Amino acid sequence: MDRTSGLDRAHEHAVGWLGSLADRKVPPRLTADEMLARLDRHLQDGPTDPAAVVDELAAACEPGLTAMPGGRFFGFVIGGAHPAALAVDWLVSAWDQNAALRMPTPAHSAVEDVAEAWVVDLLGLPTGSAVGFVTGGTMANFTCLAAGRDEVLRRAGWDVAERGLVGSPGVRVLVGAERHDTIDLSLRYLGLGAPEPVAVDDQGRVQAASLAAALDAGDGRPTIVCLQAGNVHSGAFDPFDEAVTAAHDAGAWVHVDGAFGLFAGASPRHRHLVAGAERADSWATDAHKTLNVPYDCGLAIVRDRAALRAAMGMHGDYLIHDAAGEPFDKVPEISRRGRAFPVWAVLRALGRDGVVDLVDGFCDHAAAFAEGIAAIDGAEVLNDVVFTQVCASFGDDARTRGVVEAMLAEGTAWMTGSRWHDRAVLRVSVSNWSTTVDDVAHSIAALHRAAGR
Ligand SMILES: *Cc1c(COP(=O)(O)O)cnc(C)c1O
Repeated sequence: MDRTSGLDRAHEHAVGWLGSLADRKVPPRLTADEMLARLDRHLQDGPTDPAAVVDELAAACEPGLTAMPGGRFFGFVIGGAHPAALAVDWLVSAWDQNAALRMPTPAHSAVEDVAEAWVVDLLGLPTGSAVGFVTGGTMANFTCLAAGRDEVLRRAGWDVAERGLVGSPGVRVLVGAERHDTIDLSLRYLGLGAPEPVAVDDQGRVQAASLAAALDAGDGRPTIVCLQAGNVHSGAFDPFDEAVTAAHDAGAWVHVDGAFGLFAGASPRHRHLVAGAERADSWATDAHKTLNVPYDCGLAIVRDRAALRAAMGMHGDYLIHDAAGEPFDKVPEISRRGRAFPVWAVLRALGRDGVVDLVDGFCDHAAAFAEGIAAIDGAEVLNDVVFTQVCASFGDDARTRGVVEAMLAEGTAWMTGSRWHDRAVLRVSVSNWSTTVDDVAHSIAALHRAAGR
């Protein structure tokens, strides 16, 4: 069998799919159950030609695909795939490098080192911070919080790698009441249980005074404080300067979940939103959201490289001093794909100015959405639109839900229905490089039609 049989077919189907995005309806035509009925069959005994496999799967899946990489998908927080990152992601599969170790994969290790330095610099984080290239924001939160957990317990004289958690002093974790649920999930994976919520304001920002009071009321346990850059509903950022100072004064490790919002730090216009966040100890962000790298790619950034290596490396030893360390020391996995290649590619393609334009463009589109939605009869924008998120109501919950349903049924755009502050809301999240002013105008027009029903 020819090694490349199937690649030409995959290329043709990919080009066809990408070419269809401009005009196709955003939602899929079939449901998951309907797709299963279409695909469900016994695994046959004999082989199938790779090119035929590609054709069969592409034809079968077409009606079950959502135009997520298109310019009119504003659901959840979903990035697009920048052309340079997408193309290089194909190479990642063809090169098929196992990125665990430096010696057998010098190309990936070098590219990872370069991309690490570029990302840290671009986001305005402390030079020399370590970046683990993980699968996404959830694992970035997990990885950073593992480093934090081990470090605060180490300072209390307890070695988690050696002794585990049973019998340890325990760790107190303070989080904003509107943190992302994956913080709780990460804490569960880490054996830390449920965190203590701190009061937030009307935009979902941690109230610095409440955080200071909670820290003061501490019981002497080692402490981690989780802050947020980018609330999924409002896009709001915690008041980092005050919060980081209070947390550090209390001896806490400060982690920032900036899955999409940390990239505000790359933009001179939006940098003020993350002022003070650079003084934290760890930061989680996604390359597959704002940076528009294909799935799956998250970035776990930790100021103290030794703390990250001690938590994720094979030895659990804070005192390893060999020069570079191995790439697997910074992530939960050993074997993994070369995730740094597409990150390098998108940064090389965009340059600093391109990243600024990307971030500012999302924010401008979000502002246009807010203005367009506010002009719809009975509609109200519920958040201060400071970044890429818009949260709106169309009146009572039943009407808001009706508008979301009608908008999805029509198919011009996809935005997510959600609940925020006990109200049904429509949430718009802008994070695709290919979204144009026209896409936004057409999507607002679709909302007008949906609200007019
Ligand atoms: C998306 C998101 C996450 C989770 O990231 P995944 O890449 O989906 O694992 C965590 N926190 C925030 C604020 C997010 O927006």
